[in-house]
Amino acid sequence: MILNAFVLGTSGSMPLPRRNLSSILLRRGADEILFDCGEGLQIGLRLASVSWKKIKVVCISHSHADHVTGLPGLVMLSSQVNRDEPLIIICPAVVRDFLESTRATLGMYVNFKIEYVILDELEKKPVIYHNKEKEYVIKAFQGVHSRKVWGFSFEEYDRPGKFDIEKATALKIPKGPYWAQLQQGNTITVEGKVYRPEEVLGPSRRGRKIVYITDTRPAQVFLEKMHDADMVFIEGMFKKEHAETAKEKFHLTGVEAAEMLLKSGGVDRAGLIHFSPRYTQAEIEMIEKEAQQVFPKLTCCRDRQSFKIDNKN
Ligand SMILES: [Zn+2]
Ligand SMILES: [Zn+2]
Repeated sequence: MILNAFVLGTSGSMPLPRRNLSSILLRRGADEILFDCGEGLQIGLRLASVSWKKIKVVCISHSHADHVTGLPGLVMLSSQVNRDEPLIIICPAVVRDFLESTRATLGMYVNFKIEYVILDELEKKPVIYHNKEKEYVIKAFQGVHSRKVWGFSFEEYDRPGKFDIEKATALKIPKGPYWAQLQQGNTITVEGKVYRPEEVLGPSRRGRKIVYITDTRPAQVFLEKMHDADMVFIEGMFKKEHAETAKEKFHLTGVEAAEMLLKSGGVDRAGLIHFSPRYTQAEIEMIEKEAQQVFPKLTCCRDRQSFKIDNKN
């Protein structure tokens, strides 16, 4: 299954002419999952040539305006096509209230169902969404910001190992549905004899993991969540020299993000996002350089960039 991540924007606080507000869209097969939805999201979608028609789940990290004010536009846009499936919005309660009151005030026409998953009500429940086929899950975890904030991880379940035809033939298991059953991880009985999947399958194949973290101070919980991730999108809002500002405003410097990436272990690749609008592109490149000295496998994301996340086995 092809898995791509599209960077729809990289700015924090306000959109700029060449930098949209931070937002990432994941596309796995026919499913699209959006992380954050600030003002101008539709422009980011257009520029990245991404179809918004298949957005299935929207995850909103917190209720600051630069992460939510694109929602009414997105919902309005989605109503221009017929849609059978509901749109799932995972967000804090106040974000639901914001969208519902805007809909009511403006008398917005919405031709599909919106299902909310309210982060404040989840307590410590780890899985907040899984797709119908149970191929992947989305999990949320809390960061440390000037208001409640959540990070997200998208995780595919491990898949059964490769089917070993030679072993199955040697064991004289009849071809056809029995093989399919074993491939799906089920134990079968043929003429009174029991065969277990591990007898004919190789080691299970690891699912992919993508993590999204923004608007936060460093926190221990991130280390575990980012561990072994194939791709991490994480805030690197400030240069090292503005570390005090980052602390005061509850944000991360690029170096702080890199230190956590290093400590978490096993992170394959990372992209920094949510840059302070005060910085020029040259200054963002400085953030990149500083952070790469700590964790070389990172880059500062650019608007319209995309990443393909391959299966490792
Ligand atoms: Zn922000
Ligand atoms: Zn914020």
